[in-house]
Amino acid sequence: MTRSTWGRKIVMAIVAISLFVSQVGGAVALAATTTPFGPERFAQNHATYAITTKSAYYQRIWRSAIKAWNKTGAFTFRLASNKTAQIKLSTASASQAKRLGRDVGLTEFWARNDYFFKVDSELNPSLLHSYGYSRSDDLHVAEHELGHAMGLAHNPSKHSVMYYQNRSVGIQQVDINGVKKRYLTPAGQAS
Ligand SMILES: [Zn+2]
Repeated sequence: MTRSTWGRKIVMAIVAISLFVSQVGGAVALAATTTPFGPERFAQNHATYAITTKSAYYQRIWRSAIKAWNKTGAFTFRLASNKTAQIKLSTASASQAKRLGRDVGLTEFWARNDYFFKVDSELNPSLLHSYGYSRSDDLHVAEHELGHAMGLAHNPSKHSVMYYQNRSVGIQQVDINGVKKRYLTPAGQAS
């Protein structure tokens, strides 16, 4: 997925982070007071987004997740056009869902010098349906993917929206702390 037009000097980092559905329990829950983050971030603690899914239901899910994060004050998502938005929020089509496999949500990002310049997050409706996710479960998956979009990594604790198998937990104080710390910490430095 590299494009030569960006030039040779640009270091590209393309990373996909998945939220897996798993029936396997027994994960060790370590207490983390701040949700960890990777080395990449946006230049500032705000970014523009566009909701590109055609589904009215999933448009509402993404809007609710945006609203929930904006309310925390740690980061601001601002609505922009499909063309200019830094973050695109979508749903996987049936054929894309095959590529997602067991992922209920997926976030891919493109960064140079550890600064995001493009982030794509998608939800996987066919899997969300088949696992019987409720509206609030769907919302938590969207909140989780937006967490990745801001630079958050997975939290080993189940009491975090960023737990890798999260379904029932919304945005917690540890997650808000994680975003705040991410944007007080220079790009290139992970926690
Ligand atoms: Zn994840």
